[in-house]
This record gives sequence, C-alpha cells and structure tokens, in this order.
Amino acid sequence: MGVTRIGHVALRVMDIAASVNHYTKVVGMDVTHRDSDGTTYLKCWDEWDKYSVVLKPSDRAQLDHIAYKVENDADLDVLGKRVADAGVAVSKHAAGELTFCGRSISFMLPSGQRMYLFAQKDFLGKDVGVMNPDPWPDSRHGIGAHWLDHCLILGELNPEKGINRVADCHDFLKGALDFRLTEQGMVGPNHSVMAAAFLTRTVKPHDIAIVGAPTNGFHHLSFFLDGWHDILHAGDILSKNRVKIELLPSRHGITRGETIYFFDPNGIRNETFGGLGYAAHPDMPVITWVEEEMARGIFYTAREWVDSFSSAYTAV
Ligand code: FE
Repeated sequence: MGVTRIGHVALRVMDIAASVNHYTKVVGMDVTHRDSDGTTYLKCWDEWDKYSVVLKPSDRAQLDHIAYKVENDADLDVLGKRVADAGVAVSKHAAGELTFCGRSISFMLPSGQRMYLFAQKDFLGKDVGVMNPDPWPDSRHGIGAHWLDHCLILGELNPEKGINRVADCHDFLKGALDFRLTEQGMVGPNHSVMAAAFLTRTVKPHDIAIVGAPTNGFHHLSFFLDGWHDILHAGDILSKNRVKIELLPSRHGITRGETIYFFDPNGIRNETFGGLGYAAHPDMPVITWVEEEMARGIFYTAREWVDSFSSAYTAV
C-alpha cells in the first residue's frame, strides 16, 4: 500500500514547439496526446502509463506540479487523512481533473511544490509489449530514455531565521507518506543541519530528493538509462543537438548514479541517470555526507562545485 513510484512532472514552458522537440528528439520520448491549448503529454518507450511529462504553454518557465502513483485507490483516502493530520490542506480532485487519471488528491509540500497522488492513469503499454519482448524497440530514438526516474526539488534553507524546508519536507514525506531516507547532506555546527535529503519508496537510491536553497524551487527531472555507455551516448546526442550541458558525463557520490546535467529550451534542468547504484532495502543504513565533502558527494569525479548547480533553478 502507499506510494509506489513517481508518476509524472508537469512543467509550464514558454516555447512549446521547442520544448516538444527537445523532449522527443533529444530525450527520446513520444507524444501521446495534445490538448487544443497546446498542452502536450509524453512518455518514454519503457513506460506503460500514458505520460510521465506534461508540457503546458505559458509565459514563464515554472514547475506546475509533481505527481506520484499510489498502489490502490483506497490509499488516496488513507494518505489524504494522514496529510491532513500533518496540518497540510488537501484538495480532492474527481477523475479526469488530473488528465487521463482517476480521482486524485493534491497538497503543497512544505517546500512549496504542489504534489498530486493518483492511483490510476490511462494505460498504453511499453513499446516492446509484454509478450516475448525484445530488450529495446526499433522506434528508440535520441537519448532513448527508459523512464522518468526521479525529481529533485529545492527547499528554503536559512538556519539563522530558523527556516529549514529540507528538514520540514523530509519529515513530511517520511511521516505522512512513508518515504525512507537513503542519504542525507549535513551542514553547519557539528553537521547538525539537514541540507539535503534523498528519499525512496522503492529499492532505488531515490524517488525524490530535496536540497537546500535560498528560495523554494524545482531543480531537475531525471531520466533513467542502463549504464555508463548510455550516458556517454546521451552526451553525443546532446552535443549533436547543441543542447546546453551543465555537467559532463560524470558520477555522483550520492546515489552512485552516472550522470549528465543539461538544460531544456526553457532553462529547466534535465538529468540522465545511469545505473541503479545500489539496492535501497528498507533496513539499509542511512548514508551521511558532510558539508566539507559535499562537492565530492554531488560531483564525485571532478570533486569541484559547479556554481550553476546551486544558482540556476526553476520557479514553483
Ligand atoms: Fe538527480
């Protein structure tokens, strides 16, 4: 019971044509539906639900919402009550309000992002099907991302004023939605301030991450690839398409993921994330990174802080 995995990320984008081109030609997704206002729904070849990314035409680049799928319809009632008991206002949405989904609930995370929970979304199936499938489809294109893997959100961190939305969001996700902490970044006196939290509901190293920042925000959405060779191939595709790359093919210390950071045409950060890192079983001990080692934690290969990582992000 409870949250099973990430469902989708909905983004408001300024140039819908350029954005659709990026997520199809570069990331390798396919358009599965377009609304009359231009809102576009996309899925990866290895996903089965109708969409994992929504692009909404807007006059600004902004996160609209993130959505996670729960196992059973009844979980929406149980988790909705727990969210309300945590003092967070819950909105209930009839089937279809979250497009192509059954009924859903939504609420604001302590770090200011709207999160939806839903149990059902229209089913399309993997491009390789389920009967004696090939390992990948002939239709694979661009980076050929397997699936939307996780997202990283930003929470206001201002210990002098007693504000720590990272810790607040961690407490909420753990307490109300049963996420488990896999890794944490600790800063300040005696490394007592939680500045980063990586949380999972599966055995992946993370299904969501929260990092401290001057203001709440959205940092990146990440797409899964098999491994290092696919990460390097993704770098080729990015360079072929003149996409702005922030971090060259590299490894994270945190999660052990192999990675590239790059930007979509709206300046929204994407990541390709290779390998499953480790199996985050429920009894795995929490891994801690301290402030002095944080550059190594995030940028393990170069061990140097990339300034834009903490200054360039998307509004919520
Ligand atoms: Fe990531």
